[in-house]
Amino acid sequence: MNDSFEANKRKEYFTKACEKIFEVVHFYEEQYICKEQMLAEYFAWNGDNLSPLYAHYDNCLYVQAELVHEIDVKTDAIKMVEVVEEIINKLHESEKLISPKDIIQIYCQLKCDNEELISLNIYYKTQKKIVCTKADA
Ligand SMILES: [Zn+2]
Repeated sequence: MNDSFEANKRKEYFTKACEKIFEVVHFYEEQYICKEQMLAEYFAWNGDNLSPLYAHYDNCLYVQAELVHEIDVKTDAIKMVEVVEEIINKLHESEKLISPKDIIQIYCQLKCDNEELISLNIYYKTQKKIVCTKADA
């Protein structure tokens, strides 16, 4: 076996280990998806019938207590990524760092602390947002 073969195997092993760690972190950080359901899906084989939702563990109780409902924020997320991309491209020219505040100010079309960013076209593009600030609500 040569070194690059070993290096690739090692890289593959660590990539899979990272994915597993993220799955575990997601499992513990998730607040609203039924944990029993998540475990059942993880261990299910193709064609297995999954049990219906249970309502006796923390997450299911949160959903009931907080009257949680799902909404699709895909368009907001895409817009946010576009904002980040444009800010990075803009600030890259002047070798400045991007801050979360820059992203929020451009995304929410608020007064910008960084005047360079006011020239971005995306700053002026209005679109209906699902994710709102306190000011929008
Ligand atoms: Zn549950």
